[in-house]
Amino acid sequence: MLELRELTVHYGLHPAIQNVSLQVASGEIVVVLGANGAGKSTLLKATMGLVRPTHGHILLDELDLTSLVRRRLTHQIVEQGLVLVPERGGTFTDLTVQENLLLGAFPHRARARERELLTFALELFPKLKERLSQRVGTMSGGEQRMVAVARALMAAPRFLLLDEPTLGLAPVLAKQLLRVLPKIAAEGIGILLVEQNAHLSLSVAQRGAVLANGVLVHAASAADLRDDPTVRTAYLGSD
Ligand code: ATP
Repeated sequence: MLELRELTVHYGLHPAIQNVSLQVASGEIVVVLGANGAGKSTLLKATMGLVRPTHGHILLDELDLTSLVRRRLTHQIVEQGLVLVPERGGTFTDLTVQENLLLGAFPHRARARERELLTFALELFPKLKERLSQRVGTMSGGEQRMVAVARALMAAPRFLLLDEPTLGLAPVLAKQLLRVLPKIAAEGIGILLVEQNAHLSLSVAQRGAVLANGVLVHAASAADLRDDPTVRTAYLGSD
């Protein structure tokens, strides 16, 4: 279980997120929805120790990661099994697909499993198998997102944090990418997904939460969120 407990982050005096509590179980997909600037990226960054929380705790099963997070020791947090795919990034564009994937297996926890992890990643994204020697910077946006997710899987995550993986992708490619997530979760990996694409993400997630101005205003099962009139109006359009 990954647990965010009463997490608060300030940028200067401005609170970007306030007292956000959220849990993700192993093998579960939880989506955080919210408008631009609601604090979604900040939530993921704070969990990884990329920004320092002013208040709150991060717990990973029996481990309290709070002191690593507060000291911003992200590499040690990765060693414990939390891996982030950042918005738009997460690849070395000058390197090939294969180089990106192999570099992804940098944590100690992943090294001995490199072969098995590579097989799994390429099973999930067969398209990458044909492109192993292509430079990532020459690939389409959708393919680059696949490389970023595959590379994160090479780090042997226990929990995968995804920051708007479908941003800028055509609907059909966004759907293809999100459809892979249940296969990852089926391996026991918990997924904390940040998305603006509510329709799609609620179709693959078990639970969801809504962030508004840094505050978690709603948390429910994905089915309940899909049916909720306020969520429908704000995030799902009129249909
Ligand atoms: P988006 O979908 O646009 O990425 P978001 O929900 O991920 O938005 P955040 O990027 O977490 O939102 O930003 C939350 C708030 O904090 C915004 O008001 C943003 O302007 C502010 N903010 C984000 N990063 C910083 C920073 N490094 N310094 C100061 N303010 C920041």
